[in-house]
Amino acid sequence: MGPPDPILGVSEAFKRDTSPKKMNLGVGAYRDDHGKPFVLDCVRKAEALIASKQLDKEYLAIGGLGDFTKSCALLALGADSEVLKSGRNITVQTISGTGSLCIGANFLSSFHSASCDVYLPKPSWGNHTPIFGDAGMQLKAYRYYDPTTCGFDFSGALDDISKMPEKSVIMLHACAHNPTGVDPKPEQWKEIADVVKKRDLLVFFDMAYQGFASGDVDRDAWAVRHFIEQGHNIVLSQSFAKNMGLYGERVGGFTVVCNDAEEAKRVESQLKILIRPIYSNPPMNGARIAATILNTPDLYKIWKVSEFSLEWLEEVHGMANRIIKMREQLAANLKSEGSTHNWQHVIDQIGMFCFTGLKPEQFSVYMTKDGRISMAGVTSSNVGYLAHGIHAVTK
Ligand code: PLP
Repeated sequence: MGPPDPILGVSEAFKRDTSPKKMNLGVGAYRDDHGKPFVLDCVRKAEALIASKQLDKEYLAIGGLGDFTKSCALLALGADSEVLKSGRNITVQTISGTGSLCIGANFLSSFHSASCDVYLPKPSWGNHTPIFGDAGMQLKAYRYYDPTTCGFDFSGALDDISKMPEKSVIMLHACAHNPTGVDPKPEQWKEIADVVKKRDLLVFFDMAYQGFASGDVDRDAWAVRHFIEQGHNIVLSQSFAKNMGLYGERVGGFTVVCNDAEEAKRVESQLKILIRPIYSNPPMNGARIAATILNTPDLYKIWKVSEFSLEWLEEVHGMANRIIKMREQLAANLKSEGSTHNWQHVIDQIGMFCFTGLKPEQFSVYMTKDGRISMAGVTSSNVGYLAHGIHAVTK
């Protein structure tokens, strides 16, 4: 018998608790202000449109739905991307972000012959370790989170990166770092990009929260685009679980930025060879939904006027803003509870999670053992209880 998944274990404990005030802040899925799962209106509309077309259910290509992969890359790289214009990227549809990371890890394990070392931020998303480990890569770490400030350990990260062996792979969370909610600022990203260049590292960006962090899809993709502008041929993992609320539909993309279009063709051929015996081809329903929302004849211009797209951007903004508001309310409630601690990090951190600094203890508030809470599980009606509980265990 293997050990249970730590996050699912938190949900089990939550289910067993009979307190009417219990809150589950373990799982990273968005909830509305009544604590209920949320399906975006634009998703419902896209589903209705797809249903009305009576489309077939044939297999997709190994690399997925073309309408989806095209707009997936465009969403990440931006309308002005030189990479897209010169066709030097390959983007394949994957089984959400996890599947993308898995394909990426296995691709690098086979083809990045210069190094099998992958450096993860300390801490990183729990699944990164088995994904890269199972692919046969050597796991290493660089300093990232500073528990004394509950913020980014910028000098520690730079120092560690500057010592990484050349050609190593470095994993960077593009925005809304999980589990800490701590992101580098643009100026810090610039310095990181410079040091990464000096060390000739291969950058693997994990972008699971584009739009979800700030509410602005371009702003959240800034680091990815900056690295590319600086000449880094990155690999990139994308997920549509959070920003479109398509969790169970499993929609994602994996992109390799290559030297030229010809190299992109060769990489594509190898990705297909890799994918074929694993799942043959990806599922179509979620990709159709995402493509319907994103894809218009010319996304560059029409995105802003497309009914779905505009609606989607507004809804992403709405989800991000609710979380930002809950951060402010939680800090304010802690203050009115009489807490004298500095809770600024609750406001400063970004995205789905908040790394509270709490230890596992008391109360009917369920979170992962590292003290991470999902801000998406906080609502206007339970934020007071949460503040009360946090204050009680930090007095
Ligand atoms: N990467 C990070 C950093 C995440 O936080 C997550 C989900 O929590 C994922 C990837 C992948 O999620 P999914 O496979 O649901 O797209």
